[in-house]
Amino acid sequence: MRMSAMSAERSLSPKDIVSCGLCIGCGACGGMLNAGNALRFDQYGQYKPRRDAPGYGRRTDRFARTCPFSPFAMNEDEIAQDRFPDARQMDEHIGAFEAAFVGYVAEGEFRGLGSSGGMVSWVAAELLRCGMVDGVAHVGGVDGAGHPYFDYRISRAVADVRAGAKSRYYPVELSGVLDEIRTVPGRYAIVGIPCFIKAINLARAEEPVLAERIVHTLGLFCGHMKSARFVESLAWQMAAGTDEVEKVDYRVKDPRRPANWYTAEIGLIDGRTRRKDWWHLSDGDWGAGFFQNSACNFCDDVVAETADIAFGDAWVEPYSSDGRGTNVVVIRSLILNELIQEAARKDRLNLTEVDADLVRRTQAAGFRQRREGLAYRLTWARAGVSPRKRVRPSTAIPFRRKLTYRCRAAISWWSHRIFYIARTLERPRLYVQWARFALYVYHALAYSRGSMGALADRLASLFPSRRDTAL
Ligand SMILES: Cc1cc2nc3c(=O)[nH]c(=O)nc-3n(C[C@H](O)[C@H](O)[C@H](O)COP(=O)(O)OP(=O)(O)OC[C@H]3O[C@@H](n4cnc5c(N)ncnc54)[C@H](O)[C@@H]3O)c2cc1C
Ligand code: SF4
Repeated sequence: MRMSAMSAERSLSPKDIVSCGLCIGCGACGGMLNAGNALRFDQYGQYKPRRDAPGYGRRTDRFARTCPFSPFAMNEDEIAQDRFPDARQMDEHIGAFEAAFVGYVAEGEFRGLGSSGGMVSWVAAELLRCGMVDGVAHVGGVDGAGHPYFDYRISRAVADVRAGAKSRYYPVELSGVLDEIRTVPGRYAIVGIPCFIKAINLARAEEPVLAERIVHTLGLFCGHMKSARFVESLAWQMAAGTDEVEKVDYRVKDPRRPANWYTAEIGLIDGRTRRKDWWHLSDGDWGAGFFQNSACNFCDDVVAETADIAFGDAWVEPYSSDGRGTNVVVIRSLILNELIQEAARKDRLNLTEVDADLVRRTQAAGFRQRREGLAYRLTWARAGVSPRKRVRPSTAIPFRRKLTYRCRAAISWWSHRIFYIARTLERPRLYVQWARFALYVYHALAYSRGSMGALADRLASLFPSRRDTAL
């Protein structure tokens, strides 16, 4: 892969990125830290490089070229230009791609086992089945109670890929699987959220062994990454102890209910399970940003623009009402396009081709947050490394929208800290009641809910600015 000229001779350290809130905890720098277990959970339940690692404060050009949030690394457009120079289609939001589809897996149990239409597990399993890879790096459950509940592992059998189905809104890191790929020869596919896939592409540009062995990247669309504390909050709100939780299912599937009515389920060590709809959780509105990693405030890739293929949920009607789950799939690699089209011709997959506009509409809120919202956040004063984004700073949005973005950012920031205090004092109600109030304010601003929402509407009518649109 070509190295961007501007990335040469610029140095940064993991400490520089962590201290300004730009570390997502992907673990791609693991090899540069020169320490065992190079990443650890911090006090807020997010992976961070170990502060006592010899490489933590060492500034290098290499780190600056490979951290996905480094301003000196190639951006998504530059990586995509290298990887997919001849893509048939190009879209400002979706990036370069060959074809896009909505649909689901028609054969076997993939759809029933998956969080959405089961397409990620199907593609991963098909790559193994056809001998196109020897292993798939993805995320599965860890046995036993306590953190971590999930981790990255390499599955080498179709059954293990299928067992790893479902979305995990939980911190995971890549250092272990990257080490295994460096050590064990073979061809690998990796499943990851957009910033992780970007990190993998940057690592491939540095290390020929990774470039040779990682032959397919499977991206997941992404809203934001949550901290490990979300699991503990689920336990608190389902009247269970945090140390009793053994298993977590963020999205229990129920074909009788709309796909976007998420239900979370926790499995306890005594074998009992507890369930709650996300809408009844004080922190269950995804858009409010509870437990969001601060780096996500500076992300501009919703649809894994540097992945060979990317998958999301088709969050538009009629698909969002279908509780069986429907994917939206963006294909960028010619080989995977052929594999998928062939399976669709044989009715193994049920897919309908769609255009970029439909893909964009399935992720409308994500794009607002990472285009309009990002442009506004880039105008805020901040110390340390300045992120280099594809979005220009701008304050050209109505006052009410600014307040909503401010409120979301405040909820993200405070949720980590209030939870930390409540956890330390062993006072769950402190956090849960704060979260309820924070959600009330957010809903008033974003959706005009409640008496505070009515008041906000009246104030907005007294001081009109450009028309608000729903978030
Ligand atoms: C943090 C996060 C945020 C997301 N945000 C959005 C969003 O805003 N909009 C949207 O449309 N879709 C989003 N997704 C993707 C969505 O949840 C589904 O994963 C996707 O639609 C694929 O569904 P499926 O049924 O095809 O996958 P499945 O067949 O259920 O397979 C999922 C695969 O992904 C792997 N996996 C699960 N969690 C992770 C993880 N954290 N990191 C790497 N691999 C993982 C599993 O091991 C499995 O191989 C998000 C996913 C994650 C993890
Ligand atoms: S929102 Fe962006 S930075 Fe945050 S986890 Fe998702 S892809 Fe990574």
